[in-house]
Amino acid sequence: MGRIQEHIAATCDLTLIRCMDWRMDNGPCLRHALVNAYGPGRTFDTVSLAGSCYALVHGEATVREFFLEQVSTSVSLHQSEIVAIVQHTDCGQYKKVMTFENGAHEFHVLSDDILSAAKILREHFPNVDVHGYIALLQDDRVVQVRRTDIPNPVVAMPNVRERAHA
Ligand SMILES: [Zn+2]
Repeated sequence: MGRIQEHIAATCDLTLIRCMDWRMDNGPCLRHALVNAYGPGRTFDTVSLAGSCYALVHGEATVREFFLEQVSTSVSLHQSEIVAIVQHTDCGQYKKVMTFENGAHEFHVLSDDILSAAKILREHFPNVDVHGYIALLQDDRVVQVRRTDIPNPVVAMPNVRERAHA
C-alpha cells in the first residue's frame, strides 16, 4: 500500500537505551558486542540520553514520563521484544552527581541502576525482556562490554490450598 502504511508496519528487534556520549561509538566495540549478543542484521531503535537509564531511575516525574514515552513509542510502534540498557564507565552524568571510590564501586552503582531501570521497564512493558550491559571506557573508547545479571522477576504462584478451600 502507501508509504505511510509501510512505515507503520516497520518493526525492529531491540530498543537500545544508551548514553548520548560520543565515545560509545568511538571504535567498533559496542556494535560488535550487540552483534555478538543478538546476531548480525538486527535492527534497533535507540533512546539516547545523558547517563543512559539514569533519568529513568533518578529523574523527576516529568523526565521519567518522557523517558518511558520514548521507550513506549519503540515498543508499541516497532514491536521490539527486548530493551537493552547499556551503561558505561566514566559517564559525565554520574560524575556530575557522585564520586566513585574505585572501579568496583562504579560498576556496582551502574549495575544497581540497571536493575532499578529494569524493574520500572518491566512494570510498564511486561511483554519485553530487559537486558543490561556495562561498557568499559578506556582512552575515550569502549574497550569491553559486560552483560549484567538481571534476575527474572518472581512470578506469583496461585495459592492452591487457599483456592481449594474457597
Ligand atoms: Zn555517559
